[in-house]
Amino acid sequence: MGGTFDPIHYGHLLAAETARETCGLDEVWFFPSGEPPLKDSGPQADGASRLEMVYRAIDFQPHFRAMDIELEREGTSFTIDTIKALHELYPDRSFSIIIGADRVNDLPQWHEIEALAGMVSFIGVTRAGETFQLEQLPSFIADKLTIIEMPLMDISSTAIRNRVAAGRSIRFLLPEKVHSFIRRNGLYESV
Ligand code: ATP
Ligand code: MG
Repeated sequence: MGGTFDPIHYGHLLAAETARETCGLDEVWFFPSGEPPLKDSGPQADGASRLEMVYRAIDFQPHFRAMDIELEREGTSFTIDTIKALHELYPDRSFSIIIGADRVNDLPQWHEIEALAGMVSFIGVTRAGETFQLEQLPSFIADKLTIIEMPLMDISSTAIRNRVAAGRSIRFLLPEKVHSFIRRNGLYESV
């Protein structure tokens, strides 16, 4: 599961857990991105802080792992490069990419999507406020896509950042250990 995780929140964690359980995954690995290709502006918090927040969020969850390979790589974070690296490191494993409904709809724009679809399968998770536009997907993507439902949580990192900047509470939208890290380091206080 990739993302900017700026910051990670309960929507991400519940999507991951629902995918793990529904699709029988051994583990879910979280990949905070370096420079995301399809976002207007870069992440607000630096990579080390976003990774630290992922570590804090998945603390002691035996099936969850935080991976820093996209942060360590120079330049734009393309998922295909991450998958190629994973196949080299773990040749006996197969990988699925977990994405929310908003990202399912932009799959056709992903870098080298045909090659990517040949290497992985996609797990698309329902997301509050988003509708799947499945008829827009070419069959080489649709054939590799499983749609699953999670209890909808209308939470986004953007809304969390805006709340902090406005001096509002973000408690219970994300784990307390992430909350305390944001407060202690003064993250997101100015937009
Ligand atoms: P931002 O508002 O900064 O874009 P975000 O909340 O969308 O943040 P991302 O890091 O962009 O978080 O998302 C990572 C992945 O998690 C994406 O595939 C996204 O669709 C999915 N996701 C994020 N929030 C939810 C949610 N509440 N429910 C389901 N999926 C989600
Ligand atoms: Mg997003």
